[in-house]
Amino acid sequence: MNRKQLGVVMAAGVVVAVVLGAGIYGALQAPETHDHRWQVVATFYPLAYMTQAIGGEHVSVHTLVPANTDIHSWQPSFSDIYAADNAHLLVYNGAHLDPWFEEDVLPALDIRDSLVVNTTANVSLISGRGTHGVDPHTWVAPPTAHQQARSIYEALVYMDPAHQEYYSRRWENLSQRLTDLDHRYAASLASAPKDVIFVTHAAYGYLAQGYGLTQYAITGISADEQPSTAALKTLVDSMEYHHTYVLYVNPLHSEREAQALKQTLEGRTGQPVTILRLYVMLGPMDGLDYLQQMEQNLENLKTGLGAA
Ligand SMILES: [Zn+2]
Repeated sequence: MNRKQLGVVMAAGVVVAVVLGAGIYGALQAPETHDHRWQVVATFYPLAYMTQAIGGEHVSVHTLVPANTDIHSWQPSFSDIYAADNAHLLVYNGAHLDPWFEEDVLPALDIRDSLVVNTTANVSLISGRGTHGVDPHTWVAPPTAHQQARSIYEALVYMDPAHQEYYSRRWENLSQRLTDLDHRYAASLASAPKDVIFVTHAAYGYLAQGYGLTQYAITGISADEQPSTAALKTLVDSMEYHHTYVLYVNPLHSEREAQALKQTLEGRTGQPVTILRLYVMLGPMDGLDYLQQMEQNLENLKTGLGAA
């Protein structure tokens, strides 16, 4: 393991990325509660999923943002901050997705004995419509999700070397599933006749970049943002230009909004518009967990792009 790439932060009031050394090692204590599992706090579902997948029976994971809540507008309450206290391991997305974690949660906690992991510390971030011009949706694409999961794996081994074999076995399993998904995304999308996607939420920048697609989004990153007339006109023009009448909706938006949008687009283009879902994976949905939603996204992309 290259420790410089861990992206782990030992915080003492301020968040400073430090290179881990032997001196820090001894600061970590084994769990002392009656619950002998390591207490982990993850800011949102995909990271909690990864942590549970790797940590298994040795971790107890608490998620701050409730499942399927618009993470872009979420803010922690005092009780959320309190819930993060006493965690052995704190895991967040970074990339300005959960800035409140660094700004509000960490400074309020006594985390001298905790490990803090910014899971995107080693991810090459791409520009997007998020705050600071960065696309925060790293967990949506298999390769960037893989990097995030690896940072969690490395932190678990660092925190609890006694169970390294256990974590490694489970990490290999998760890593293999993500790598397999990556290969299937690449193979399916590279051969697809079309290479543009029209989406209601600009959450697929890493997918687009990774698999040679262009993403046209009619709103930015806030789920309750309404498309402007100008945005709709641009979308219609692009759809007509690319002869593509498939619209991908964020399933966190209501079906009614999607139908209204479909009617508007059909009225303007004169073409039947197909609505398909692309999950943003902020919680289990339609009976699908994080990786299953990634699987389903691939199927829906293949459908929309005309891939075999
Ligand atoms: Zn988003």
